[in-house]
Amino acid sequence: MALRSSEEYMERLKRMKPNVYAHGRKIRRDDPILELPINTLKFTFDAVNDPELKDLVLTESHLTGEKINRFTSLNLSIEDLYIQQEMKRKCCHRVGGCTQRCMATDTLNAIGVVTKEIDEDRGTNYFDNFVEFLKYYQANDLVGSTAMTDVKGDRKARPSQQEDPDLYLHVVEKNGKGIVVRGAKNHITMGPYVDEHLVIPTRNLTKEESEWAVSFAIPADAEGVKIISRIVAPRRRIDLKAPYNQYGVADSVVVFDDVFVPWERVFMCGEWEYAGRLALTFAGFHRHSYCGCKPAVTDIILGATALVAEYNGVGNAPHIVDELTELMIIAELVYASGIAAAAKATKTASGIYTPRFLYSNTGRYMAGVNIYHEYDILASIAGGLPSTLPPEEDWLNPDTAPYLEKYFSRKPGVSAENLHRLYRFISDYSCSAMGGWAQYAGVHGGGSPVMEKIGIRSEYDLESKKNIVKHLAGIKDSV
Ligand SMILES: Cc1cc2nc3c(=O)[nH]c(=O)nc-3n(C[C@H](O)[C@H](O)[C@H](O)COP(=O)(O)OP(=O)(O)OC[C@H]3O[C@@H](n4cnc5c(N)ncnc54)[C@H](O)[C@@H]3O)c2cc1C
Repeated sequence: MALRSSEEYMERLKRMKPNVYAHGRKIRRDDPILELPINTLKFTFDAVNDPELKDLVLTESHLTGEKINRFTSLNLSIEDLYIQQEMKRKCCHRVGGCTQRCMATDTLNAIGVVTKEIDEDRGTNYFDNFVEFLKYYQANDLVGSTAMTDVKGDRKARPSQQEDPDLYLHVVEKNGKGIVVRGAKNHITMGPYVDEHLVIPTRNLTKEESEWAVSFAIPADAEGVKIISRIVAPRRRIDLKAPYNQYGVADSVVVFDDVFVPWERVFMCGEWEYAGRLALTFAGFHRHSYCGCKPAVTDIILGATALVAEYNGVGNAPHIVDELTELMIIAELVYASGIAAAAKATKTASGIYTPRFLYSNTGRYMAGVNIYHEYDILASIAGGLPSTLPPEEDWLNPDTAPYLEKYFSRKPGVSAENLHRLYRFISDYSCSAMGGWAQYAGVHGGGSPVMEKIGIRSEYDLESKKNIVKHLAGIKDSV
């Protein structure tokens, strides 16, 4: 079995060279500031022993036949894509949002698809590099980041037009042993607690931009890699412990300060025609993942809205029932897009199935444009208390606790503790640093809504729609 325990994952992190900076300090990976974000990843290791999750999370390596964690697997059938989506929805329910680890699953699948295509067209051997790396990744049950988004500088300028060429990560040297890369990737989730960074280009490129067409895997503590992190976690609880408050996240600027990458870890170097294909293939997989995880976020918002309305005695008010129905529709439409994307998947030359990107883009778009609307529904029905709830210390102070328990009461039969727990959860979930993070992540993670629109347009057969109308209207002209 190629499975690590969460303790073994942590032990490996402890042994890594310190190259992580967070909130003004250089830290080791076992620094307490990382405890909650790392808990989220530990959950993905523990899930293989969870009776409700293990059938989803455990699978078999097609390379070795060993049992592996599905987060390290390839999608080799439509069934795999269905299970990926279901696994994400169920796992996200447990941690209260993003499980983070699917980033690398989607990147590995995309690299597998595109390296095969480059090799077939160009006679290179990137797919072999990928397969060898995947064997190592699966055998050690590793965690990878997706280091795709470049810092990008002037948004209107292409990589070759930037004043500083390093604003997109690029190759600065090639030799017999490998390549040297320079640049920085931004917003990189899990940066301080991954084993490997999986680097792919962020956009399409031109022939003159071949130095930016680069993809590789590099150990997260390799020489020249610097990880500058922002850590977000729910507020710490004193007494009122709750599962949600155990999990956090870290996003990072990952700097590549002339980093050497050996050839056997390179998956693209100079093949500029495939840069956009790799970026979009990752996006297509990742937006399919979002069709599993975003419905889970909506489920949580829906559950919190329904419960708070019930505790407040207004659960059956028509306007509230209507808003709850709207949340149900958003969750299930996004989920249905993922199912459609899987049902219409295509087998690529690599053997990997790609979801139909039209539908993963549609689902991700629906999720992205609705996220603030969903929080709006929760906020309007919860009332103002999530933003004004007295701190936990005041509920523990014998001078103030009796007043709070007496005056924060709602429908008879709802205990003071349960009411307090629910409001503190809603406050942490929607009116906090973590809530703000989730809202921005809901819009931009996996690509901003405008990017999904571009993806949808690029493969949409608009002419066929005009032709339908020409037929119905009796228009015979070809124009
Ligand atoms: C919480 C979170 C986690 C993330 N995790 C990862 C990760 O792990 N790995 C990773 O690689 N990325 C990650 N991302 C990055 C994510 O994919 C980007 O945020 C997203 O692609 C948008 O890029 P940007 O933030 O640089 O915004 P910008 O590129 O600045 O775009 C903002 C807006 O500017 C406009 N715009 C930008 N460029 C143009 C242009 N050329 N022409 C016209 N209009 C333009 C568009 O309206 C766009 O919506 C994460 C993001 C978030 C918020």
